[in-house]
Amino acid sequence: MRTNWAGNLTFSARRVHRPATLEELRRIVAGADRVKALGSGHSFNDVADTDGDLVDVRGLPAGIDLDSAAGTVRVAAGVRYAELAAELHAHGRALPNTASLPHISVAGSVATGTHGSGDGNGGLATSVRALDLVTAGGETAAFSRDTDGDRFDGTVVSLGALGVVTHLTLDTVPAYEVRQRVLTGLRLADATAHFDAITGAAYSVSLFTDWKAPRFTQVWLKQLAQDDGHAHDPGADLPWAVPAEGPVHPVPGMDPAYCTPQDGTPGPWHERLPHFRPEFVPSSGEELQSEYLLPRAHATAALDALAVLAPVIAPVLQICEVRTVAADRLWLSPAYGRDTVALHFTWIKDPAAVLPVLGRIESALAPLEPRPHWGKLSTVPAGQVRAAYPRMAAFAALAAETDPAGTFRNAFLNRLLDA
Ligand SMILES: Cc1cc2nc3c(=O)[nH]c(=O)nc-3n(C[C@H](O)[C@H](O)[C@H](O)COP(=O)(O)OP(=O)(O)OC[C@H]3O[C@@H](n4cnc5c(N)ncnc54)[C@H](O)[C@@H]3O)c2cc1C
Repeated sequence: MRTNWAGNLTFSARRVHRPATLEELRRIVAGADRVKALGSGHSFNDVADTDGDLVDVRGLPAGIDLDSAAGTVRVAAGVRYAELAAELHAHGRALPNTASLPHISVAGSVATGTHGSGDGNGGLATSVRALDLVTAGGETAAFSRDTDGDRFDGTVVSLGALGVVTHLTLDTVPAYEVRQRVLTGLRLADATAHFDAITGAAYSVSLFTDWKAPRFTQVWLKQLAQDDGHAHDPGADLPWAVPAEGPVHPVPGMDPAYCTPQDGTPGPWHERLPHFRPEFVPSSGEELQSEYLLPRAHATAALDALAVLAPVIAPVLQICEVRTVAADRLWLSPAYGRDTVALHFTWIKDPAAVLPVLGRIESALAPLEPRPHWGKLSTVPAGQVRAAYPRMAAFAALAAETDPAGTFRNAFLNRLLDA
């Protein structure tokens, strides 16, 4: 793979490897002065880039080993959530949440703090119980929540800085069913006035707007089937919006058939929690993305600030999504230490038109303690990003200890850790 999924970045690696065994991976890492792991390449910035050797981990044996007694699953790094979810479900197990798409690799998603939505749901990395790495020199290392304590919390959202993750052990929960419904016509004023009631109306809630008017075009409610007393009356729990007339795609003009079922029927967790079905291109396919994660206490102020910028945002926007994420303890998680509101933007694929708009948004959100998504586009200066993470210095020390020669450094990490 020479470009990322979006095609807006051509990797500058001098070689791309796809090792088929752990031994081969260890030899490649041992022989490289600079190396970077690549997952499914869904990041929009240079977080996975290197001018050294790029290692595509998807060639490694795709193991998914369930430990029923422990309630955990050990999964090879290159496995995608779609494969993992189907296997878990077949054995009566589940993950607590998913991102909007199941196409992404587990290790790459965890490394960038990828998240879904839900007031009570942490990001995907919060399920990680242990991980195995190939570190510089081709050595192996293992970290575990049970034995490494606070230090483990520094190893999970790692931006690839500690080594190449070969396996992750994830906590699982019993399989569950979800009903998905979509409402429409939520006015911005109602969304801000009743934000807690709206994001608390279901297990996972997403609000979509094109910022062409002060309203949300769609409200996606993903309700645990066992909790939902409103299955036949989809608008009953949200008086400020009305049920959509039929299936919709969040991005205007795209085919709703690409999306998971929205008819309120109960179905397996992994066929309702992601917005997009694994067999189709997710989102629009021709796009750039940005996202800013803020303390949820700032949700109203942030939405009001975006509303002021709507005339600037709308012309280059495909869709904006607002989600919530529970606070966690992972040092580099964008939800570290704070319940979070996440403001996501799917842009047209025109960096020259989009980047100035990012600057406007970032200026407007600056007083609201934003943390840019690690895998999406942002122009926030590295020093400001670093200052947004209380444990950043501890992470830099952990990276220096694990990788003293800087083998896993790249331009992204140099900006972040040295600026
Ligand atoms: C259409 C679309 C929808 C998206 N939806 C969401 C969403 O709902 N929520 C959200 O939070 N994000 C979302 N994202 C962003 C996406 O989840 C992140 O970019 C994520 O990193 C993708 O995983 P990946 O495997 O493609 O990572 P890559 O882009 O391949 O890599 C990202 C980082 O992970 C590191 N890495 C990868 N594999 C390993 C490994 N084995 N060992 C060590 N480090 C590794 C890389 O070195 C790099 O630093 C979306 C992206 C797209 C394209």
